[in-house]
Amino acid sequence: MERESMEFDVVIVGAGPSGLSAACRIMQLAQESEQEITVCVVEKGSEVGAHILSGAVLEPRALDELFPDWQSMGAPVNSKVTQDTFYFYTSQQSALKLPGFAIPKPTHNDGNYIVSMGNVCRWLAEQAEGLGVEIYPGFTAAEILYHEDGSVKGIATGEMGVSAEGEQKDSYVPSMELHAKYTLFAEGCRGHLGKQLIEQFNLSEGKDPQHYGIGIKEIWEIPADQHEEGKVIHGIGWPLSESGSSG
Ligand SMILES: Cc1cc2nc3c(=O)[nH]c(=O)nc-3n(C[C@H](O)[C@H](O)[C@H](O)COP(=O)(O)OP(=O)(O)OC[C@H]3O[C@@H](n4cnc5c(N)ncnc54)[C@H](O)[C@@H]3O)c2cc1C
Repeated sequence: MERESMEFDVVIVGAGPSGLSAACRIMQLAQESEQEITVCVVEKGSEVGAHILSGAVLEPRALDELFPDWQSMGAPVNSKVTQDTFYFYTSQQSALKLPGFAIPKPTHNDGNYIVSMGNVCRWLAEQAEGLGVEIYPGFTAAEILYHEDGSVKGIATGEMGVSAEGEQKDSYVPSMELHAKYTLFAEGCRGHLGKQLIEQFNLSEGKDPQHYGIGIKEIWEIPADQHEEGKVIHGIGWPLSESGSSG
């Protein structure tokens, strides 16, 4: 069955911090040079932010560059880091608190903010839409499309509403082609299309191999009287050797 297609100047895969900030920046540049362009973002989560880790310590330099007025624009970036503490856990019950001078430099968060990255992405999506970007949540880029000369032509979204037996349900939505002059892949690390592109265009040749670690994040509800706004606690040691942080 022939698929329907739509044409854009730019298609961006993934509405994470990188895809959304790229969408905003492209539109800002187009407006500065008085050009009308079409930019579309597809996001596989049911809504923007649905697949974004909920908590993060944010270094605001990129946000300062993208939206210098982010504070007056109401960005959900309010809780400034006020202190970093670092513990070496020796067992389930005990820990040693490291003195300030021994706290590793990369874990200093002066000038940073504690945010919900999902909320930051929702806010970035609002800014992007305000600049004229079209965002389609609930659509997965399932396939890379190529021109005859081998260059990237765009992506095809996946079919939706197909039963386990392969039959179309009432909710069936067919696959659709999104063609673009430029396609940006902002799927996050180990994106399945990104892996195909690395292979197709031999992008890893002569590069250091990528390194990955497993991160586990928990959201804790704590008694209000124990909450200290702006406090970041780093931990290392028992039961894993990796470090973690929370704010
Ligand atoms: C446990 C953990 C803790 C972290 N803590 C911090 C922190 O405190 N501070 C900090 O600065 N960074 C932190 N990071 C790193 C931060 O999460 C990433 O650097 C950042 O999310 C990368 O943004 P991104 O837009 O490239 O990708 P992502 O945030 O991964 O966003 C990719 C988006 O693309 C969508 N997507 C993927 N594939 C497709 C597809 N085929 N079609 C459509 N949509 C697709 C996903 O649903 C997602 O919304 C942490 C990471 C982890 C794992």
